Formats: sequence, C-alpha cells, structure tokens
Amino acid sequence: SKDSGKNKFSVFDQEMNRHQLRRMSLEKDLRKALARSEFMVVYQPKWDSYMNVTVGLEALLRWRHPEHGIISPAEFIPIAEETGLIVPITYWMLHDVCSQNMLWHKEEIANVAVSINMSARMFEGGGLYDVVEEALTRSGLEPHFLELEITESIAMNNMEETVAQLSRLRALGVRVSLDDFGTGFSSLGNLDEIPVNTLKIDQVFIRKSKMHSKKAIISNIIAIATNLNMEVVAEGVETPEQIELLQSLGCRVMQGYYYGRPMPVHELGQWFIANTA
Ligand code: C2E
Ligand code: CA
Ligand code: CA
Ligand code: CA
Repeated sequence: SKDSGKNKFSVFDQEMNRHQLRRMSLEKDLRKALARSEFMVVYQPKWDSYMNVTVGLEALLRWRHPEHGIISPAEFIPIAEETGLIVPITYWMLHDVCSQNMLWHKEEIANVAVSINMSARMFEGGGLYDVVEEALTRSGLEPHFLELEITESIAMNNMEETVAQLSRLRALGVRVSLDDFGTGFSSLGNLDEIPVNTLKIDQVFIRKSKMHSKKAIISNIIAIATNLNMEVVAEGVETPEQIELLQSLGCRVMQGYYYGRPMPVHELGQWFIANTA
C-alpha cells in the first residue's frame, strides 16, 4: 500500500541521515586528529617465500578515535582524500616512517624498505618531492629504503605529470611500486612508460586463484613483470595452497595474513628476532 511504501522511504531516509551524520562528525574530528596525535602506523611484512625472510614492510594508517576506537582506513581515507587532509597526513607519515625505519636500521633490528601508500592528491601541486627529500635528510635514511605505492589509476590520470614526478623520485633513489595491479587494466599499453620497480598483484586474484581464469591472469602478470624487469609481490596471501601455486608460477615475494598481519611498532622488534635469517 501507499503507507508501507512511505514507511520504507522514511527508514531509508533515516539510514541516509545516520550515514551522513557519521560522515560529517568524522570529517570534523579528522581535521583535529593529526594535531591530537590520533594516527598510528602499523606495518605488514613482505615475505620472501624461498629464503623465508622479511624483505620489506608496508606502512598502513590507523586512526585511534577517542570515542569510536580504531577506525578502518576504508572509512576515513576517502574522507581524507575528499577534504584534502590526506596531504598533511601523508607528509606526517613520511617523516614518521622514515625515522622509524632509520631506528630499526641503527639498532640492527631490520634492514628493509618500507612502503607508503600515495593517494592521487599527493601528485597535485608538486610538493611531494621536497617533502620526501626532507624526510630522508632529516631521518638519515637511505632513499632505497623508502618505497611509494601508487595505483594504476593514479599513474594513468595526468600521466605526464605523474611520470615526471616519479622519475625525479626514482632519480633520488626512492622505490616505486604499482599497487592493486590488474584491477585497472586500461594501463597495460603504457606500463613500460611508468617508472616502477615492482608490481603488486591485487588480492582479488589471489583470493580466487583456484579458478583457472584467475590463475592465468596471475601467471601473465608475473610474465609481464619479468619481461619488463620489474619485481612482483602477491598481496592477500592467506593459505599454503596459494603459496604453493604462486611459487609454481615463479612468484617468491608475498604479503598476507598467512605470514603476518599489520603490526604496531612495539610488536615488530620481537617479530623480527623470530623472522630474520
Ligand atoms: P592496500 O594498499 O591494498 O593495503 C592492503 C590491505 O589489505 C590492508 O588493509 C591490509 O591490512 C589488507 N591485507 C593484507 N593482507 C591481507 C590478507 O591476507 N587478507 C585480507 N583480507 N586482507 C589483507 P587496510 O590496512 O585496512 O587498508 C585498506 C586500504 O586503505 C589500503 O589498501 C589502502 O588503499 C588504504 N590505506 C591504508 N593506509 C593508507 C595510507 O597511509 N595512505 C593512503 N593513501 N591509503 C591508505
Ligand atoms: Ca598498498
Ligand atoms: Ca594493494
Ligand atoms: Ca586495495
């Protein structure tokens, strides 16, 4: 009837309203989060499955909200991107990650590169290079121990400008990887023009790697990487079956819950002692 239709709409409106209210309240809090030191960096290992050693770490952001607890990046990164807050947040992270990694090097705890995720916004305005250089200089970290993860869509949109900035960063010695590879397939024809060291196979392919078609895609990504002289990392590795398959296809470096979840700094010292050659 007319009435029940109306009712459904009002429930829908209430949902919308609740969603918008949470969004607005988070945006307001996000503006203060950096000054209030509410961000925390966690690190997930990249694992060489032949040598059984950690060969890298990916830095991932966590927001400790005073009332809501830990908020997932899936929820707050889009808000940070829309508002532009992602730029100062990433600048903070570059400094934090470089000095933390330098500390691990100095204390001989770990000797690996750490990667940081870059939003499209980071390539607007052209300020990234100077901040990266400053973070490296201030911390004393060698450039090849810092890696920037970009997605295909970032590399593709405004390609000339992005490639120019990436080339400068590469000339400095910073490493670049292409994240979530295989999900933005429009790029294949230009892949050789983007200055990247590593392709990261998106976890959707690993999750469905039992399917022949996904296996074929994984195998071809590995072939492309090899032929273009790039390294390859498989993301979202959770089972021994996936590891066995990836190894049989020639992929040795893997990242996923099977090897290690993203961990806070205070857990990594112990973790490295147990997991280094
Ligand atoms: P991403 O860059 O693709 O990062 C990998 C995500 O997969 C992480 O989620 C990680 O915890 C998760 N993951 C790792 N191994 C496994 C696994 O075996 N199984 C499953 N199911 N998941 C796994 P997280 O930390 O929640 O981050 C989600 C996304 O948020 C990231 O995807 C990235 O796009 C974004 N993000 C996180 N931190 C930052 C940041 O500092 N800056 C920017 N711009 N984006 C970030
Ligand atoms: Ca990433
Ligand atoms: Ca990814
Ligand atoms: Ca992703």
